[in-house]
Amino acid sequence: MSYKVNILGVKVDKVGIDEATDKIFKMLEENKTHSVFTPNSEIILNAYKDKEFCGILNSADLLTADGIGVVYASRILHDPIPERCAGYDVACKLIDRISETGHRLYLLGGKPGVAETAKKNLEKKYPFIQIVGARDGYFKEEQTQDIINDINCVGADIVFVCLGAPKQEIWIYNNRDKLDARVLMGIGGSLDVFAGIVERAPDLVCRMGLEWLYRLIKEPWRFKRMLALPKFGLIVLFKGRKYKGDADNG
Ligand code: UDP
Repeated sequence: MSYKVNILGVKVDKVGIDEATDKIFKMLEENKTHSVFTPNSEIILNAYKDKEFCGILNSADLLTADGIGVVYASRILHDPIPERCAGYDVACKLIDRISETGHRLYLLGGKPGVAETAKKNLEKKYPFIQIVGARDGYFKEEQTQDIINDINCVGADIVFVCLGAPKQEIWIYNNRDKLDARVLMGIGGSLDVFAGIVERAPDLVCRMGLEWLYRLIKEPWRFKRMLALPKFGLIVLFKGRKYKGDADNG
């Protein structure tokens, strides 16, 4: 059985939400820092055009399919990913579990105030959760060392790095060796959702694979970014097979 599918050079794990959560939980027990990225069609398309970014994505310990476009791509390649595995959904499952186990979570990203509001909302919902830090994602390069010191000092086990792609993946890649946390997850706009600033599409819309349409209606200025989806589909259709054989399955 193969564990990954190579989509235009990006080796995506064929896992659903529960399996991804279990894998991350195991990472928490291992004595090293792991990275988890959640690429969507737009991110894979960027990696297709940028080999260095592609290498950064493939350096992750887990790459989940954040977007129905990636799931469809795996089906086009006859090597299906079981379901969409969005970073936000995995984050929710993880939060559920760590609120019982006491693992320490750090929230990094979003506009000033967003991470703090997300922290407050999560603490209200999960009274026993241990959120040991929250700070915004609009910092200067020279502040990175302070942030790393803070994350290490408070003993975070998991860091949600929500700086948008490709900034979050590059930040994690460049700094993972300096961080003591066991898991660094790049999960885009998730803090905006936890803070209640952005509304997530209803479950039924997500299950129908129409979250992109919901977002387009709610955030029409994303139109240009969303053009990546049909472009991605066409490239997978015509060039996808060339990459398919090389997926580093173990
Ligand atoms: N962001 C950030 N620092 C930056 C640029 C972006 O913290 O320098 C945050 C932004 O505020 C937003 C998130 O990164 O919360 C990106 O959200 P988007 O919806 O674009 O991400 P997606 O989930 O689509 O990748």
